[in-house]
Amino acid sequence: MSTRNPKWQSDEIILALNLYFSPDRGSIDSKNPKIIALSQTLNDLEIVTNRPDAEKFRNPNGVTLKLSNFRAVDPEYTKQGKKGMTGGSKLDEELFKKYRNDLPQLKKLAESILKINKDAALVQAISTIEEDETIWDDAAVEGQAHYKIHKYRERSRSIVKKKIQWAWSKFGKLTCEVCDFDFEEHYGELGRGFIECHHRVPLSKLETNTITKIDNLALVCSNCHRILHKDIDNLSVESLREMLHR
Ligand SMILES: [Zn+2]
Ligand SMILES: [Zn+2]
Repeated sequence: MSTRNPKWQSDEIILALNLYFSPDRGSIDSKNPKIIALSQTLNDLEIVTNRPDAEKFRNPNGVTLKLSNFRAVDPEYTKQGKKGMTGGSKLDEELFKKYRNDLPQLKKLAESILKINKDAALVQAISTIEEDETIWDDAAVEGQAHYKIHKYRERSRSIVKKKIQWAWSKFGKLTCEVCDFDFEEHYGELGRGFIECHHRVPLSKLETNTITKIDNLALVCSNCHRILHKDIDNLSVESLREMLHR
């Protein structure tokens, strides 16, 4: 009986793409030392913990197949009249298209994913952020590890408390910095003191070791927060506000 390996997650695809585009990648076959090394790296990472078939999990054959899948969507390859291995995921294609014209960013992201995963304290911290559907939808493009750091930062209790206290003492109320929604005004006593915090620093600029300052946080209502996460690397609190008020 064969057990299917879990589908590739965005962080893993980013690492594979980074090898695919690397100028000294070498040939796409399971004997290539770089492919073997990536297979080892993927096994060492804590990205996917559910591994029904540990033996086959991201083995050199699996990594080779993933890189061949990229070829199927690579115009440079297909224009030569060749075909890659079809059967890649939608996410493969999406990430391929996003990063093929921005290789420096791809490299930076890949290095940062590896760095996050080597930092035991950070891995521990972000493991407290649950893997919900939102992560799949929202973090598809920028990678789970970065997205989880974002969520971890904006949920960090002490800093959120400080931010809320600061706003209370300054404005005497808590309103959404995007749409001005006021939970207390709308829900009465039940909504008193309620607001969410959004971390302003774009994921791609998120350093693994910076400490959250209250200026990095924006107070937002749940709706606006969800929308901000829909395009987390491009939408700022200010740009969404402007869009809404136009
Ligand atoms: Zn709002
Ligand atoms: Zn947020």
